[in-house]
Formats: sequence, C-alpha cells, structure tokens
Amino acid sequence: MLAHRTTLFATSGTSKARAAAKAAEAKGTEIVDLSAGEIWSPSPPAVRAGAIAAIEGGVNRYTETVGLNALRDAIADIVTPQNGLSWTADEIAVTAGAKQALFNAAMVILDPGDEVIIPQPYWTTFPAQVAIAGAAPVFVAASTANHIPRIEDISAAVTPATRAIIINTPNNPTGAVYDGEWLRGVAGLAEDHDFWLVFDECYREFVHEPASHTHLLDAAPEARRRTLIVNSFSKSLALTGWRIGYLAAPPAVIAATKALQSHTASNPNVIAQHAVLAYLTAGDNGFIQEQEARLRHNRALGQAILDDLRDVPLPAAQGGFYFYLDLRGILERKPGGGAVADADDIAGHLLADAGVATVSGSAFGDPAGLRLSYGVPADMLERGLTRLVRSLNRLE
Ligand code: PLP
Repeated sequence: MLAHRTTLFATSGTSKARAAAKAAEAKGTEIVDLSAGEIWSPSPPAVRAGAIAAIEGGVNRYTETVGLNALRDAIADIVTPQNGLSWTADEIAVTAGAKQALFNAAMVILDPGDEVIIPQPYWTTFPAQVAIAGAAPVFVAASTANHIPRIEDISAAVTPATRAIIINTPNNPTGAVYDGEWLRGVAGLAEDHDFWLVFDECYREFVHEPASHTHLLDAAPEARRRTLIVNSFSKSLALTGWRIGYLAAPPAVIAATKALQSHTASNPNVIAQHAVLAYLTAGDNGFIQEQEARLRHNRALGQAILDDLRDVPLPAAQGGFYFYLDLRGILERKPGGGAVADADDIAGHLLADAGVATVSGSAFGDPAGLRLSYGVPADMLERGLTRLVRSLNRLE
C-alpha cells in the first residue's frame, strides 16, 4: 500500500552506522563512535545567548517562509566572503539545514527523466534526493589516488538529459578539496551543455594547509546565473540539531523555493533563526577558529596513529573532519576465519572486535572505503584509532 516513491530511498547509511553503534552499546559493549558527521562541541555562546533572548522575548510565531529578512540580509553578506560578490536577500533562502536546501534545489530544478551527475564516492543523501525528484543520478567515479573525478570523465557522462551536477568541496566522505582549475573545467561544461551547478560547501571552514577552499564563483564568476550554493551552520557552528542552513541562488530559484517551502516547512525554526542571527550580528569568528585549530590537532594526531596501518594508505584528509580509508589492500583477509568481502564486513568486524563504530564506504557508493570522523574529543579519537589500527593489522 505504500507509494512507489518509498522504493527510491532507504534510511541513510550513516544513520544505520549510528544505530549499529547504539545497539552494541545497549548490550554493554564500550563503543568509540567515529561514525557521526558532526563535531563534538558546545555551540558558540552568541548562538546560545541569541536563542535564550528570543525565548525570553516571547518570540514564537511563524516567520517569513524563507527566513527572517534580517537573517537573509546577514547571510547575503557571508555567501562569498573571499571575493566580495554582492548578494541580496532575494537570492537567499534559509532552510532547515543544508539537507532541506538540497531537497528544495532538487524539487525546483529537476524534472522526471533528468540526469544529475554526482562524483563518487558521494554523500549518501545526494542520489536519494535526486531520485525522489524523479531524476536519475549518474555517478562518475573519482580516482582513488586523490578522490577527484577527471574532467574528461565528467564530460563523457554528460548527455542531453543532464540537468545538473552536484559538487561537494570539501568533500564528504573523502575529505578531497577541489581546486580552481577543476571547478573552472566543470563550470565550462555546464556552460557548454546548459546545466545547473549545485555547489555544496558545508565544510568550507575546515580545510587543512596546504589545501585551501576555492569557491566555485571565485574560479568561474560567470557561472553565477546557473549556480545554487548550499551551506549550513550545522558543521561550522556545531549546530547539527538546530537545523539552519541556506540556499543562495538566482531569484527565480529562490522564489520557487519559497513557494515550495510555504507548503512544506512554513519556515525554519524561529528560535534557531534568531540564534544564528545573533551570532552573525556579533561578527566574532573566534568559535570557528577554535574549532579549526582543534580539528587540525585531531587530524595530526589521527594521521600519526593511522600511519601504523599496514597495507592501508594514509588518508590525505584535506578538508572537513573525516579520514577516508582505502581498504583495497586488506579486503581479502579473514578476521577469525570468516571471509572479508567488502567495507561492510570491515565495519562490522571493527564494531565487534575493536568496539569502534565507523561508516562503511557502501553508504557512499564505494564498497572499499571506510569513513572515520575526527570531530570527536582527542582522547576518544586516540583510543578509537589505536584500537582500529591494532584490529586491522591483525587481519591476515
Ligand atoms: N551536505 C553535506 C556534504 C553533508 O555532509 C551534510 C551533513 O552531513 C549536509 C549537507 C547536511 O547538513 P545539515 O545538517 O545542515 O542538513
């Protein structure tokens, strides 16, 4: 009796990994959970003060559908801070996290039968949303060396049905950071074949030297009329549960998003909107700098431990807060006599043998990868990775 649509998506692989960790914990096993896509930190004081002031001030009613005008103005000021392109509120929609921004984007630019190019490995929600919109994801595999697909391969995947490409830099799960030349190459294809560029930069605040984040519109300003920028405060301000993100796009896309959102969410949570507005108004970047420093420390700590892995290359982890392991060198090995076929087996083995929760690459369209988050506290990271390395090195 359920709609055919329900066959197009399943609970996301990352949620399943979290659920497996919780189930193991419920049985009394001590689990180090490296599966979550969030940083473990209290949120910034300005955010909390803004939320409390809004509650104490009696704020409780619907807001404008795509967000408070003051918040849209404040976001307009930070969309492309590096190049000073100016943005206006009619190009901004505030959404319930980047996930809703992406969902809105899929619903307003895609028709059934359209194709959307998605580099693989990919964040698990991208193809699910494309499918829900009735379109077809077309995957282009990234090279395993740098996790970046070749422009020639993307070009070869373009067909008359291509309506968009989703670019995610810094990338979840691989941590790859795309450079200006690559971005210009993709923007050129979009221009030649007339398709949209969906640019998800949710992890832009966390890029580790010598890599640096290049904005698509810095590399190719002429692509602005076909670009939908997706961003979020979930990662940068440790606000995953508060659900505030945004879409920055041409006014026609935002107008359609507004109409759509008026029939779905009505508006993003009002208290969370005021909280983020208070943060942006305070104009203090200190929190993000602190998180960046903490992640840099965790990344160095983690790489020093992962360096002891046998037959698994050290992940570059240029951006975001994920180590993405290439397991191909160990997939034939047998923990306790059982055959290991893919990353699901390794993830299951690590949970049972080492008490470490990870996310199998199969959640990202890659049966040979494994994602570990280093957004957790340093002592937990050290404990988890030490156990993981010991367990994987024991596989023969
Ligand atoms: N885009 C990417 C690449 C992500 O990794 C995530 C969350 O993990 C999101 C979007 C969604 O973020 P939000 O919590 O703001 O909905």
